[in-house]
Amino acid sequence: MGGLNIKVAIMGAGLSGLACAITLEKYGIYPTIFEKRSRAGDRFVNAEIFLSILNKPVYDAIAFLGDQYGIYLQPTSHIHSLVLYSERQKAEIQGHLGFCNLRGRDKKSFENQLSRQVKSQIIYNSKYTYEQLAQDFTHVVMATGDADYAVKMENFRTDYASTLNGYNVSGDFNRYTIRVWMNNRIIPDGYGYLVPVSEKEANIVIWYPKYPRQPDLNYQALLENFLQTVSAELQQNFTILEHFEINDYQIGICQNPRIGNTYFTGNCFGSITPYLGFGQFVAILTGIYAALDICGTHQYSNLTKPLRQNYENSLVLRKAWERFDNRQFDRMVNFFGSPLGNKLFTSGHFDVVKLASYLARPWIRKRKTIL
Ligand SMILES: Cc1cc2nc3c(=O)[nH]c(=O)nc-3n(C[C@H](O)[C@H](O)[C@H](O)COP(=O)(O)OP(=O)(O)OC[C@H]3O[C@@H](n4cnc5c(N)ncnc54)[C@H](O)[C@@H]3O)c2cc1C
Repeated sequence: MGGLNIKVAIMGAGLSGLACAITLEKYGIYPTIFEKRSRAGDRFVNAEIFLSILNKPVYDAIAFLGDQYGIYLQPTSHIHSLVLYSERQKAEIQGHLGFCNLRGRDKKSFENQLSRQVKSQIIYNSKYTYEQLAQDFTHVVMATGDADYAVKMENFRTDYASTLNGYNVSGDFNRYTIRVWMNNRIIPDGYGYLVPVSEKEANIVIWYPKYPRQPDLNYQALLENFLQTVSAELQQNFTILEHFEINDYQIGICQNPRIGNTYFTGNCFGSITPYLGFGQFVAILTGIYAALDICGTHQYSNLTKPLRQNYENSLVLRKAWERFDNRQFDRMVNFFGSPLGNKLFTSGHFDVVKLASYLARPWIRKRKTIL
């Protein structure tokens, strides 16, 4: 690989930046990674998930990343059961549904696992701006986990801003079970979830879009109320270990994944699915894809086309979600609890999000636009 004249800067040592570096190294290119924090994953610890139903046509994201791209990740557990709650219904889906993993300071976090696989230099406490890097390097990979630069460069369409408000709690948990609540009385327009960190710790989180039509919601009160709901369901009193809140998390997508020799990856690309706010898999993929383009084997714009389409499909589902009342959530949960619903969740390659987004399009057209 003729990487002699190529000098790559990666801005951000998170999922997309590190996946990009590992892939470049396989082709003999050693980038310089600039990270603003003092080490990889230097933030609160939280549990995140890979949900197979969102990553179609890929079924097992962890196996896929290892087999196809040599990106090796160890999740904390696989997910064997997803329990869904609406106002009046509860359903359990069982099967191989995905994985739970850690993020942040923990040494088993995905950032830390990836940074141990990287041989290239990582410059911590970096204060370099994009403009400075663009002067000194032939290629710059934007992997900062936010859309700030893409917005500044007028290369990002923001669809909405969201907030995550959650607790890390101690209690007794089944590490193979995640729980999701969809109930407008508890979390209007959003949803709440419990994801285990271990048998003794879990994250209890509410995720909600910030819409101007709901300026007066007290989100901390919503979280407290949600904690009580979970506590009652699991018949436990949890001990709160840590509180975390991410505000104004931009959900949107860049117009051009590559401008000149600058690549937008991870959340800078638009990896977060508007429907549920998941972005890990696409973040890693875009990092890999940018590297493949820099190495000259593929074109980034072509590789990211299906990801853009998935984003748009997911946005349709978010718009449908906005129009759901609690009765419709009840019906949805009921359906997913049925044998057919279970099958859709666990079927190998069938793209449920795509199908649902096509079915939802005429339905949302009939209703007033909210987003
Ligand atoms: C609380 C929370 C829960 C989530 N849960 C899920 C989930 O369950 N499933 C899922 O799939 N997704 C989830 N997501 C989304 C997922 O975490 C992100 O989509 C993914 O991490 C994005 O990867 P990235 O590489 O773009 O950014 P990150 O992995 O966040 O990395 C960005 C890196 O860039 C660094 N950086 C920032 N600015 C600069 C700068 N100016 N210079 C140098 N470095 C900089 C940061 O310090 C950081 O290390 C969640 C997000 C949050 C916040």
